Amino acid sequence: MIDLFKNSIDISIKDFPKKLTINEEIFGTIQLMRQATKKDSNERWAYVGIKNDKLVVSKLYKGTNNQVPTSKRFTLLQEAENNGIKVIGDIHTHPADILSKIVTKILHIKVYHGFSIEDLNGFLHSETENKFMFLVEANKILLIFKTREFKNKDWQIKSNWANKLYGIRITQEFSKRFHLALYESENEEYLMRVL
Ligand SMILES: [Zn+2]
Repeated sequence: MIDLFKNSIDISIKDFPKKLTINEEIFGTIQLMRQATKKDSNERWAYVGIKNDKLVVSKLYKGTNNQVPTSKRFTLLQEAENNGIKVIGDIHTHPADILSKIVTKILHIKVYHGFSIEDLNGFLHSETENKFMFLVEANKILLIFKTREFKNKDWQIKSNWANKLYGIRITQEFSKRFHLALYESENEEYLMRVL
């Protein structure tokens, strides 16, 4: 998994595996994050990097109910760089909204929403050259990778086309349009490829 994480941008989208087991350290972080977010409804964020060819997962950073501010993330990324860590991706949570909680509790339907427009735009325009991004929701884990086709394509986000979309459709439309490999998991230690 570490190789895929490091080199996703050199791998063709057709060669991404159907099933992916989440690295133990990342999965541990995901579980801690989900618990923390469930408790106080604040987002959590952590980066994943490489140091001396080993995968490094940062500690959890607490944000507000809808973000971990860019300025805070920037400071933490600077710290990582100063410590010789090359950041290659990140993980963040989204607190469940009240409606989703009610639907899940009463109808036993596990609602999830996917990445936000801000998440996806930030990822595509990432100055940190992030190759992947995890999203942890109450009922789902999502993961997107940049691929070789993403790297080679001269893509541009046309204004407003995405505003018509919502929820999980934004994630799917972005993935298709920008050649991102999309995975999801029902909170299991493995992810299945969706796109
Ligand atoms: Zn988000």
